[in-house]
Amino acid sequence: MSSCTETSNFAGNATPSGNSTAPSAHCRSLIDRDKDVLWHPFSHHSLEPPRMAIRHGEGAWLVTEDGKQILDAVSSWWVNLHGHGNRYIAEAIAEQATRLEHCIFAGFTHEPAVTLSELVLEVLPSNQKKIFFSDNGSTAVEVGIKMAIQADVLRSGGVSRRKTVVALEGGYHGDTFGAMSVSGRGSFTAPFFDYLFDVKHISVPTPENLPEVCEHFEALCRDESVLAFIYEPLVQGAGGMNMYGAPELNRLLTIAKQHDVTLIADEVMTGFGRTGTLFASAQMETSPDIMCLSKGITGGFLPLGATTCTEDIYQAFENPDRQTFFFHGHSYAGNPLACAAGVASMQLLRGSTCTQQLENIAQSHKEAVTSLQDAPGLEHTRSLGTIFAVNLQTNQATNYQNPLRDRLYSFFLDRGLLIRPLGNVLYVMPPYCTTRAELARCYDAIREAGSHFLHA
Ligand code: PMP
Repeated sequence: MSSCTETSNFAGNATPSGNSTAPSAHCRSLIDRDKDVLWHPFSHHSLEPPRMAIRHGEGAWLVTEDGKQILDAVSSWWVNLHGHGNRYIAEAIAEQATRLEHCIFAGFTHEPAVTLSELVLEVLPSNQKKIFFSDNGSTAVEVGIKMAIQADVLRSGGVSRRKTVVALEGGYHGDTFGAMSVSGRGSFTAPFFDYLFDVKHISVPTPENLPEVCEHFEALCRDESVLAFIYEPLVQGAGGMNMYGAPELNRLLTIAKQHDVTLIADEVMTGFGRTGTLFASAQMETSPDIMCLSKGITGGFLPLGATTCTEDIYQAFENPDRQTFFFHGHSYAGNPLACAAGVASMQLLRGSTCTQQLENIAQSHKEAVTSLQDAPGLEHTRSLGTIFAVNLQTNQATNYQNPLRDRLYSFFLDRGLLIRPLGNVLYVMPPYCTTRAELARCYDAIREAGSHFLHA
């Protein structure tokens, strides 16, 4: 249906004041109408290529208004698990919508929230016992930080003795103030520095720096009475698909536990199958106390955040004082439509088809690491589970602001691929229905980019 046809239906409707909506406004292209009224996330509108209007999505593909097909190799910011327009999830949402679209989640509950919680807890580390719902990744992190702080305050009889949160350098945990505070300090947080709470950052551990990082962390735990340690297990996503080892992270988690530090695993990106296990924390010897989930939890259909915790954390809030419940809650907490999507997505995720898809993608990525490791213009080829990443060689710093970013983005779009680089870092994190042939198109284009931008 063209925008003008839509307009003719709409234009006859009088507004309450008797004025009709100007029909000419709706005869313009969607892109032009968008420009008039919209402000997009992480976008510099005047410097970027025009946005693209998407008419529909199917499987791993997005289709523009004028029929151009684009392979969504980044799962639309890492949220999509089973492909666009997945009928099983769509029908679960539609069915739920006719029954209960939403209701307040304080004092009430419903089937989709309970079932989703049961399904998620079943696959998390066994120490995770309760789920607290919010509505995106940043709020899942905010909730995790607040839970850790308030649990400590409650346990110490009203005033916490511990104030320090430790995080990894270069981490990204979201855009709300708590989430920004625990993220690495960089261009995304610079304008807000003065408003962020103080956090101690330690280097991402590697086999080479492990002794110094452990010493630094140990000293902080000893001298600063650390309350919590927050980390993206095994991969720092927005920080540049920076993969690091389980043995090194295990060492930090062991130190933290020796000092009774609350562990907060931010699995907003790594959760629901991205790293070779359903959750990256499953690859660790020490389980977190708190886990932050979002993105893939609904298969990419609807916004939902979830923060899970141990019985111990939960019990800190269980006392006779009416004033000491957890001071947090969102209007859309536990939204039934999002939870119904989550239940359907979890059922797909645990089915044999999806298990096979995860293995196929991981295997394809491994082969691509081997075949691209000596390709001209590329360096630091790596993969973990369904995430493949590679750096484009550049004379400038490897970071999000690397000027190659916009050129690379257009280069891939010209080839029908949505590969949205993090600066000069290219990655492929596809929906799980993506075929080997579709993945091969991504690797081929990446190889071509290496040569095309050589010495850029
Ligand atoms: N934590 C991590 C690890 C993330 O990757 C992100 C988003 N990229 C967030 C938190 C924030 O999630 P959201 O964008 O849904 O607020």
